[in-house]
Amino acid sequence: MSGYDRHDFYCIKCGNKGIPVQRRINHKHGKHHRKKLWCPYCKEEINHVECRNDEEVQEFLENFAAGVYKEEVEASLSYIKKENAIWS
Ligand SMILES: [Zn+2]
Repeated sequence: MSGYDRHDFYCIKCGNKGIPVQRRINHKHGKHHRKKLWCPYCKEEINHVECRNDEEVQEFLENFAAGVYKEEVEASLSYIKKENAIWS
């Protein structure tokens, strides 16, 4: 055992799997923990949902298909729009 586990992060905007992150196994979070990461598909920083097993991945994909994350995407991006507005 390496003491590390691979956790997959899925982008809430495009639903693609993000860049894999390694973290210690004993670092506990609740289910579907959010983390702001660079999405290579959206080409911006956006919340990703942490999935620790196939079940959670399946759940994320179902939520994503149902549009559960749409409002969160808006909220996640709104502050960036405000920042941009200062300069426009
Ligand atoms: Zn994305």
